[in-house]
Amino acid sequence: MQAGSVTMYPRTEMLDLIVIDGHARGIVTRNLVTGEIDTHLGDAVILGTGGYGNVFYLSTNAKGSNVTACWRAHKRGALFANPCFTQIHPTCIPVSGDYQSKLTLMSESLRNDGRIWVPLKKGDKRPPNQIPENERDYYLERRYPSFGNLVPRDVASRNAKYVCDEGRGVGETGLGVYLDFSDAIRRLGRKAIEDRYGNLFDMYQRITDEDPYQVPMRIYPAIHYTMGGLWVDYYLMSTIPGLFVIGEANFSDHGANRLGASALMQGLSDGYFIVPYTVGDYLATNKLEAISPSHPEIRNAVACVQQTIQKLLSINGKRTVDSFHRELGKIVWDYCGMSRTAEGLKTAIHEIRDLREEYWRNVKVPGSGDDLNQSLEKAGRVADFFELAELMCVDALERNESCGGHFREEYQTPDGEAQRDDENYSYVACWAYRGYGNREDLVKEPLEFEYVHPSQRSYK
Ligand SMILES: Cc1cc2nc3c(=O)[nH]c(=O)nc-3n(C[C@H](O)[C@H](O)[C@H](O)COP(=O)(O)OP(=O)(O)OC[C@H]3O[C@@H](n4cnc5c(N)ncnc54)[C@H](O)[C@@H]3O)c2cc1C
Repeated sequence: MQAGSVTMYPRTEMLDLIVIDGHARGIVTRNLVTGEIDTHLGDAVILGTGGYGNVFYLSTNAKGSNVTACWRAHKRGALFANPCFTQIHPTCIPVSGDYQSKLTLMSESLRNDGRIWVPLKKGDKRPPNQIPENERDYYLERRYPSFGNLVPRDVASRNAKYVCDEGRGVGETGLGVYLDFSDAIRRLGRKAIEDRYGNLFDMYQRITDEDPYQVPMRIYPAIHYTMGGLWVDYYLMSTIPGLFVIGEANFSDHGANRLGASALMQGLSDGYFIVPYTVGDYLATNKLEAISPSHPEIRNAVACVQQTIQKLLSINGKRTVDSFHRELGKIVWDYCGMSRTAEGLKTAIHEIRDLREEYWRNVKVPGSGDDLNQSLEKAGRVADFFELAELMCVDALERNESCGGHFREEYQTPDGEAQRDDENYSYVACWAYRGYGNREDLVKEPLEFEYVHPSQRSYK
């Protein structure tokens, strides 16, 4: 940027992809301050627009994270892969009320020394320090003696859900479990715990007004990372030639991996080591004609963006964008979150469709499109989340097995662990857009394992 060869457009949102003769040749943007719709043309497009965790409304992601760039590219022909593979993180500060808009992650490292428990008895509302040892259930240590509190994220999350579903959750909402450092403080001394986790303890205290050195932290799972995304090949190119997708926005590397592997390492390797070479290769091996700014496909993409904005502004209904988003997020969380069932997913698909229909009839987007209008920005993103949410449920329903970040209750081992079905589901599920409201087509990319083969794991 200092060299002047890169121009940055802050406060600008990509709202469509321009595809000419089958190749990605530019994007349509909206200036979030002035509302101006603009086009940016080029020989290739690279999306690095992050994950779609905010489809759940509440997540650990930044509020601005959304799926719009990827979804609009999907509508232009890019396949969307494995949308149902999402990662739930077990150590977040529990939801505290209906009008919360964001969840806070407490670092995973806390599980190194903290012990997770709930009261043995349902509905036990005594303060934690008054619940004696023999009336506590250290459920992870009990169920998984060899891994204890360090079981993988999905296992820790699911088990927290189960004990809360049994009525043994803690805190006002009953959707929380204790993460208790009293043993570690006794064993190692307060100073050692302060040195290891002092910043996290301070953060927790500031948010909850409770001192975790004195009383156990309360934690609950939250959506944290999305393993699905636009399908890319080894060159990080999507199914639209010239459209490259990097970082969390693509599906690459992670599969169902319950940890999402290492997101930051993937982002770094995509950006430093892969895409600078593969884009060069694409440019060198494709003869791309110069395009005129008045090309019909450019005008068409701009018109699509303008129409969507006008439509959202003209509905003038009775409900805010946030109220729809909150309701959508709850459906996805309840039925396509930590554990899923065929029946629940079918219910979710119905409810999402009904709510989406209401959205396009009854959403209220105040203001105009000609200046800063955050309701309008959110309205476009929530419209895309509606379509993505349905696809996530369709994908989860199609995958009749449990694996990694996808747990179907019908497919579990006798002791409640994920039951894989590699014979029938060893593929990447790639979805092709088929028009608004229509079921997408599934394209299967088979997975072949030459050296390391997937296998059933036990954390007992
Ligand atoms: C609280 C938290 C802790 C984490 N800790 C770890 C960790 O310890 N280790 C690890 O490996 N990973 C961690 N992750 C995950 C990791 O941070 C993310 O996966 C990673 O930052 C994604 O990088 P990205 O560049 O692909 O996307 P992002 O960092 O999400 O960046 C995408 C950017 O694109 C912008 N954007 C989106 N849509 C549009 C649009 N339509 N037009 C214009 N701009 C757009 C967004 O505003 C954003 O600036 C953590 C994530 C969170 C939320």
